[in-house]
Amino acid sequence: MSLWGGIEAGGTKFVCAVGTGPDDLRAEVRFSTTTPQETLDRAIRFFQEQQGEEPLAAVGIASFGPLDPNPDSPTFGYITTTPKPGWAHTDVAGPIRRALGVPVGFDTDVNAAALAEYRWGAARGLDTFIYLTVGTGIGGGGMVNGQLVHGLIHPEMGHIRIPHDWQRDPYAGSCPYHGDCFEGLAAGPALEGRWGRRGETLPADHPAWQLEAEYLALGLVNFICTLSPQRIVIGGGVMQRPHLLPLVHRRVRELLNGYLQVPSILEHIDDYIVPPALGDRAGVLGAIALGQQVS
Ligand code: ZN
Repeated sequence: MSLWGGIEAGGTKFVCAVGTGPDDLRAEVRFSTTTPQETLDRAIRFFQEQQGEEPLAAVGIASFGPLDPNPDSPTFGYITTTPKPGWAHTDVAGPIRRALGVPVGFDTDVNAAALAEYRWGAARGLDTFIYLTVGTGIGGGGMVNGQLVHGLIHPEMGHIRIPHDWQRDPYAGSCPYHGDCFEGLAAGPALEGRWGRRGETLPADHPAWQLEAEYLALGLVNFICTLSPQRIVIGGGVMQRPHLLPLVHRRVRELLNGYLQVPSILEHIDDYIVPPALGDRAGVLGAIALGQQVS
């Protein structure tokens, strides 16, 4: 029975685990993301201790990005143009592979989470779906015809442009690159920037949520019309508010306006746009699933 390592490499914290799946996570550690050297050394030490107990078949890394997931590229395994200080153009996969002597799988945190939901969660049995997270940013990944989506680099679903009615919402947006892109209008920092308080402190009947649902629905409608996903799995800190998803369901149906005559949308939209089944474990489980793909 083989054992895999997984690293959920986030901009604020790293989660490292060893196991085979959701029912078998044997060891887990989490620590703050500091400098690349210190953070990667800490991950390596954890896996070296685990390897002392039982050898690892491979390690998967589910990373924040942008990053290079192309195994044929000279910068495969690098985080590339991130604004996070100290982390731009950092080789993440290389040090792990050299120190542990095992194959390393490497992809975006959201593609990895999509893979975990496909294996064990809300996307089982589907071959074309997307996974979105709405938190400090908006990230999206997923599968088309059973393959994680890469293409040119990897999807950046958070940075699509959506209509912005400046009369209704004079907030300029929070994205350092685009201002009022999807993430700039609808991620957690936009809620706080627009209303002057953190999203989790805004009451459920605050007008913030109608506007938030509007932006999320606009983004989702674009993805539905472009990729034709069989399901959309949507999580992240902002989606923790239970009143938000039903508002999104309603607005997606209104915006599509009867154009897509399929039961998923017309009758069962609460089973079409769904929360992650794996909750906040999707990231680290996705990393383990990435490891399983390369060994
Ligand atoms: Zn942007």
